[in-house]
Amino acid sequence: MAVATEMLAEPPAPDSAGSVAATPSAVLPAAGEALLTGVRYWSKPGYTRIVVDLEGTPEFTANVLPADTTSGMPPRIYLDIKKVRPAANLTENMQVDDGLLRQVRAARFDPTTMRVVLDLVAYHSYKTFTLPDPYRIVVDVYGDEKAVLSAAPEAELRAAPPAEKKPIPPPAKIPAAVAKKPVEVPRKASISGPAAGLRRIVVDAGHGGKDPGAIGPSGLQEKNITLAMAKLLKTELERELGCQVILTRDRDVFIPLEERTAIANKVGADLFISVHANASHNKSAYGVETYYLNFSKNDKAAAVAARENGISLKQVGDLELILFDLMANAKINESSRLAAEIQNSLVRDLKREYPDVRDLGVKQGPFYVLVGATMPSVLVEAAFISHKREETRLASREFQLQTSAAIVKGVLNYASALKQVAGK
Ligand SMILES: [Zn+2]
Repeated sequence: MAVATEMLAEPPAPDSAGSVAATPSAVLPAAGEALLTGVRYWSKPGYTRIVVDLEGTPEFTANVLPADTTSGMPPRIYLDIKKVRPAANLTENMQVDDGLLRQVRAARFDPTTMRVVLDLVAYHSYKTFTLPDPYRIVVDVYGDEKAVLSAAPEAELRAAPPAEKKPIPPPAKIPAAVAKKPVEVPRKASISGPAAGLRRIVVDAGHGGKDPGAIGPSGLQEKNITLAMAKLLKTELERELGCQVILTRDRDVFIPLEERTAIANKVGADLFISVHANASHNKSAYGVETYYLNFSKNDKAAAVAARENGISLKQVGDLELILFDLMANAKINESSRLAAEIQNSLVRDLKREYPDVRDLGVKQGPFYVLVGATMPSVLVEAAFISHKREETRLASREFQLQTSAAIVKGVLNYASALKQVAGK
């Protein structure tokens, strides 16, 4: 069994709304036993994402207990995780109080099972899925928007010391780095942009930090290109649409895929655009393509999803099996229209400067970074970093600028179509 400490060594991402993490434990789990190393969460009114971090891949079940009016117990969602033990100094309670979720508790249920309980105020539905390397369980809880208008202010949405003591040792320990304020988003900024309904857009620069993404024949790293393009895209979107743009990262830092979507949900983004460069074992493959979340329709799309998710083709198949359940809140039609506008614009505009640009079209695939997004969301594969000519192109400021400008035009076209629909 792998006893990796990577997750623990990783500095917590700056935008975490809250987390409880263990410091590297001196107590290693017994053979076959997994380690529960931490719980993280992100909130916005009507939505909370909870991530349970694990070392090892224990089996688990998710269940619901309805509210019990006689005992006054709130509704609860609980995960029973088999063959697992808590890391030595894991805090057992995490106060959330975001209007949807009151707190998260972890306690031993029986000698081999840990029960992680989400004490809810109310909820409408929930979804569970897992992510590999390191293994973690993601629980997305959806509430009734009306019921959560009295949600606690954002600044309070952080890990707090447990209210009561339970026999799980030792006392609460919250790393200073994660106990700080979540990302500040001015919510009252007056926005008078031309784009109907698009007030806030999250732009996601693919990969970063320890994850370089794909690497080109002359050593160009995808993470650097995506960051450069995301920054250009932010400037351009703010100028052209008069909207607020939030980057999931603005420097070379690793951010887990589930956190990227969580950021977009948390800030109430109207669109989510993830920027990437493509790669293929076939060195002559080139072109531009745009994805939205759905079942992959062919092997190539599945291969792209495997690479961007950091998983195997077989795991893509497993993910698709659970995707049925995860699609309920996805904006499939809007995402597909946004993808089409961006793709058309990219091909049309880039062809003027680069006549050999190949239109690979709009595609669908199961991308973790798009799972759970509650707004229209797409993933752009700007060009192939594995193709010599396109690698050179990706590295050039000129191409980055033109690509960003074309994406912005696509968003504008999408927005004006929205306006027409709304005006009818
Ligand atoms: Zn990528």
